[in-house]
Amino acid sequence: MPYEHILVAVDLTEECDPVIKRARELSVSNGAKLSLVHIVEPMAMAFGGDVPMDLSQLQQQQFDQAKERLDRLILKYPEASKANCHLTYGQPRQEIHHLAKEQECDLIVVGSHGRHGLALLLGSTANDVLHGAPCDVLAVRLIKS
Ligand code: AMP
Repeated sequence: MPYEHILVAVDLTEECDPVIKRARELSVSNGAKLSLVHIVEPMAMAFGGDVPMDLSQLQQQQFDQAKERLDRLILKYPEASKANCHLTYGQPRQEIHHLAKEQECDLIVVGSHGRHGLALLLGSTANDVLHGAPCDVLAVRLIKS
């Protein structure tokens, strides 16, 4: 059965290019729709939830910056039209799974650094997304240049 809707999780770094390109190849060969998602992690979450200052302005700047970068990606990859691009706050695993279910995606594509040793113990988004995923997950190996 060909895939019908592919969801690409992008971290908005230059590393997302090989991930999108692989997903785009698959979308062409399967005749599948292509969607992109980026999750902005709440700053308070990154600091452990207990921050004695107002982070809302910084948080808004972070969100606006992510939106600009996502818009640039849409220009570069018009297959993922604006309607199929999602920018949301939250925890990547939870939000990616939620969106994949909501949009009836049958494949999630993420980048993977092939970590080992201590880095593996600390975990990765690719690992995280794999666990409990509502559909297939493809981890595109990212090679450090
Ligand atoms: P990492 O394990 O954080 O190095 O990220 C590996 C891959 O997870 C990236 O190539 C993306 O596919 C995905 N990813 C990481 N962070 C995010 C994010 N904030 N939003 C969406 N996808 C992400």
